[in-house]
Amino acid sequence: MSINEQSYAYGASKSSIREIAAYGAARKAEIGAENVYDFSLGNPSVPAPDAVRDSIAHALTLPATALHGYTPANGLPAARNAVAASLNRRFGTAYGADDLYLTCGAAASISIALNALCNEGDQVIVIAPYFPEYAVFIQNAGAECVEVMANPETFQIDVAAVEGAITSHTKAVMIDSPNNPVGSVYARENLEELAELLRRKSRELGQPIYLISDEPYREIAYDVEVPWVPDLYDRTLVCYSYSKSLSLPGERIGWALVPNTNPEHDLLVPAVAGAGRKMGFVCAPALFQRVLIDCVDEPTNIDAYVRNRKALTEGLAKIGFEFVEPQGAFYLWMKALEPDANAFFERAKSFELLPVPSDSFGCPGWVRVGYCVSYETIVGSMPAWQALWDSYQH
Ligand code: PLP
Repeated sequence: MSINEQSYAYGASKSSIREIAAYGAARKAEIGAENVYDFSLGNPSVPAPDAVRDSIAHALTLPATALHGYTPANGLPAARNAVAASLNRRFGTAYGADDLYLTCGAAASISIALNALCNEGDQVIVIAPYFPEYAVFIQNAGAECVEVMANPETFQIDVAAVEGAITSHTKAVMIDSPNNPVGSVYARENLEELAELLRRKSRELGQPIYLISDEPYREIAYDVEVPWVPDLYDRTLVCYSYSKSLSLPGERIGWALVPNTNPEHDLLVPAVAGAGRKMGFVCAPALFQRVLIDCVDEPTNIDAYVRNRKALTEGLAKIGFEFVEPQGAFYLWMKALEPDANAFFERAKSFELLPVPSDSFGCPGWVRVGYCVSYETIVGSMPAWQALWDSYQH
């Protein structure tokens, strides 16, 4: 092939989440939106805070050349300062603006972190089930994506299994808590155990193993602690996005943080900048960098997710479905009623229910039910879930 085969393959094979969402949109046009229960996409159903609109309105009063001009590649100093100050207030850290690189969402910050760290032939461990784009981002960085199943009972990190997967090629472990797709939040003890393993293995192998903590759902947690990972493991890079916390997924704004406590900080900061440069991921959207200056401390409104979570878990439990009690994010991880999650999904589809089969996340036998939808969708879907359940009882 005269073009890049890997890129062709990624473009030609669609993400199954997006395919289901496209099917949902077409089906809604056919039979009416209220008759289709689309739980596929992680698009927040909560509006962005009013403060975001106010900030945009204020930005529009700036001279156009200032408003629309390039910013530094890593972002406006005032925006990075605002983010650093916010983290310092919340986590008692002492980060500076130069520890941050502003990005087009978490997708770009993860890609930058991976490209800053990895050389051809390196391995990056992910905890399955996992956000499917991780595999794409890891392969793009020239590394191999090594899947390690989470503990099948608790969906916490199976630290012994991670140990079994570590080799002399392991460059990093990537975690995501609160977790997409499971809705679990890794407990402090679990993260401490992982940190201890990575410290020991880094010593034994004579080379550092990094931790990439992808945290777009940090603020969406239901009465559980979400520990600040760099406090537990110093060789951490944090990837963040305002897609979920401020409901701004289409605006593409987030950051990569190299904590100043990371022993390789002075190497990693230029490597992050270089990764951004290499990929053309420079100068995140200027308007939303300005929004961060005003809105970085806006609280995340999780009330709607709390209400949806309650209605969904109570309704499904009453019918008899088994699922992992969600502690964070806005996804419910539910056991399929047959071993083949794709077959279960096809049956669900015939009842106009659209969850995502778990094979997309590197794990058989489950579905992800995204509850960042309207409350009416959750309540309205219950008869369909009941009918799906009944169809399995002979
Ligand atoms: N990481 C996880 C776990 C996600 O669920 C998502 C988006 O759904 C991303 C990263 C990408 O986020 P962004 O839209 O900010 O690029």
